[in-house]
This record gives sequence, C-alpha cells and structure tokens, in this order.
Amino acid sequence: MSRFWNTKTRQIEPYVAGEQPGNPSEWIKLNTNENPYPPSPAVTEAIMNELYAGTDMDSEKVGNRVLKVSNTVLREVGDVLRFYPNPDADDFLEAICERFSLRREQVFAGNGSDEILAFSFIAFWDRDRPVMAPAVSYSFYPVYADIFDIPLKRVPMTNGLEVDVDGIISGDGGVVIANPNAPTSVALTLHDIRRILDSRRNEVVLVDEAYIDYGGESAITLLPEYENLLVVRTLSKSYSLAGMRVGFAAGSPELIEGLRRVRDSFNSYPLDRLAIAAGAAAIRDIDYFEESREMVLSTRARTAAELCSLGFRMPDSSTNFLFVTHPDHAAKDIFMHLRERKMLVRYFNKPDIDNYLRITIGTDKEMDLLVSALKEILAEE
Ligand code: PMP
Repeated sequence: MSRFWNTKTRQIEPYVAGEQPGNPSEWIKLNTNENPYPPSPAVTEAIMNELYAGTDMDSEKVGNRVLKVSNTVLREVGDVLRFYPNPDADDFLEAICERFSLRREQVFAGNGSDEILAFSFIAFWDRDRPVMAPAVSYSFYPVYADIFDIPLKRVPMTNGLEVDVDGIISGDGGVVIANPNAPTSVALTLHDIRRILDSRRNEVVLVDEAYIDYGGESAITLLPEYENLLVVRTLSKSYSLAGMRVGFAAGSPELIEGLRRVRDSFNSYPLDRLAIAAGAAAIRDIDYFEESREMVLSTRARTAAELCSLGFRMPDSSTNFLFVTHPDHAAKDIFMHLRERKMLVRYFNKPDIDNYLRITIGTDKEMDLLVSALKEILAEE
C-alpha cells in the first residue's frame, strides 16, 4: 500500500496475467494460449513496408543485412514513426469489413481485445445498469466490473463447466459472455446466443469470440438482426499476433459510436502504425490463416486423445487449449512438476476450477514433450 494511492487503487484486485518468462524460447510455453506458429510472412513484410514508407528504398531489396551495416539507412527507415497513426486504424478496419462483409460504421479497432472489453464496460454499463457473466469465465470481466463500479452477477455453471443459459435468460441487465468460453473451452450454440439476445433487447450482450476460429459459430452473422449485440475478437490467437496487441469489435453503429466516444476520452490512437499494418496483412492472408488453424486443430485432436489415455478428463474443446483434470492427481502438483521441467501450463487457484489445468495447444513436438513429461510425473507421484 502506498499513501499516494486513492481508495479505488487500494481496493482493486488486478487481473493476474499468465507468466511471461524472459526468454520464451527456453520454455515450452503452453500457458497463455498463444499460437505456436509465427504470423503470416505477409505480416512481417507489411511491418517492413510501413517502416520504409516515405523513403525511396525498396524494403524487399534492403532487408536485414543492410540494416545492420548502415546507420544512415537506419535513420531513414522508420521516419514515418514521427507521425501519429491513423486514429481509426483505417487499413485494418477495411480489411475486417471486406473479410466479414461489414460496413465501416459497424467496426471498431482496439489495442488488443482487452482494451475493447474495458471500453465496453465503461460505455454500456454502470452502477444502475448491472451486467451478468457465467461464474467460470474470463477472469478479466470481474476486474473491469470492479474498477468501473459496475455490479456483476455471476451465474453459477451447470454440470460443473457448462454455461447456464436459462439462468442468464431469467436475469436482467447486460450480458458478457465468452463464446467459446475460457477457461472451460466449451462453446454455446448460436441458438443459445440468440435466446440470450432475445431476452435482452434493451441491454447490450457482448460476445467475446477470442477463440471462435477454433470451434463454435460466430455471432457476427446475427448482427443484421440484433442492435444489442457486440462481438469482440482478437488477433492474438488464431492470427499469431499476441505481441502486436490488435483486436476489433463488430456491432450496430450506435454501439460502435459508444465505443468511439469512450476511446476518444482515453487515447485517440490505440493502434500504432505497425500494429495497423500487421493486423491488415494478417486478416488478408486467408490461406495462411487456414493453414495454421488446421495444424492447431489436428494437434488438439491428437493431444486430447493422448491425455485421455493417461487418465485425464476434459470437455470437448472448441478452443486452442484443453481444460483438463485428473481423478488421481492434483492439478496444482502437476503444474509445479511441469514448471520444474520448464514447461508452463496455466493453473487457476480459484473455486470450482482449482483441480484443472489449461493447456495451450503447441506444435506437435511440444505436445509430444508435454505428454512424455506427464507420463513420468504421473508415474512418480
Ligand atoms: N478474451 C478472452 C476470453 C481471452 O482469453 C483473452 C486472452 N487473454 C482476451 C479476451 C484478450 O485478448 P487480447 O487482449 O490479447 O486481444
């Protein structure tokens, strides 16, 4: 505690992000749902092109070799960074509109989807306009509710890990829901999302689709029917851009305008120049996206089968992670044994899920190493 902190800062319980070790290459890092594959080569090219903008150099010809030897080149390349980026991340949002058949007034870009979630809590709910979320869901939701003084009703799960759709429908206030859900990995059907939207015509229903590319159906197709729907997406997972911080939202023009009002009360330029270029290139390279997604899906199926044969249990995953528990071994112990072997998975010391591990799908090789380590750990314990 510091005497300089105000009451709010003293009281909040900040979100605890998964561990980010100094040199990720020394670890098998399966704890924060990053993509095991690099972004599309078109992304790196777009970043280079952005740095070369305004010079008369040809980025493809110059490349890394020259960058190392010439200070003059270094000074010139990157000159464009003197200028503020486009406040509406135009190029990125144009790529989004094209890809998802949306209009510009239906989309919004943010510095990661976390920023858009925070803006949404400020824009759509307050002390007199509460919000509901499933009890086991993304742990940032209660943190936002808390810091912005919004009552959050957490609806208990059914059968342990399933979202209680009827429980949500019978309540009132706004709704924030991750679909597929995290950390449980389970997706709701579009039919259920529709039922929630129908029950709340005058409240915003935010559907956080961070993992939708790995399973479930996107609610983006429902936008023409529901003015109260806001779909929030990230490029951190299926587009391999966690390090760039790029997210977007799609919704009715009045919701998007609400987000813009909040954004322009904080920071008019949430996406920097390189993030805009990278995000646009990633969205446009559909073939690369499909390829890396397929690889993750096939590794997921193989890993799930192997973990089941070791006695682990898990719901069917619609995400790029598995949420596993073992009837004979405590999740916390397994987590610590893996950590000693420089393998990071996510353990949540929270009610209802404290005997589960969330394991991100890595490359086939990483998952083979994980499975061998788990075999040893289960045999030793
Ligand atoms: N929503 C969910 C459900 C997530 O798991 C995450 C990743 N931690 C996010 C949103 C945030 O993603 P980002 O800020 O990287 O876009």
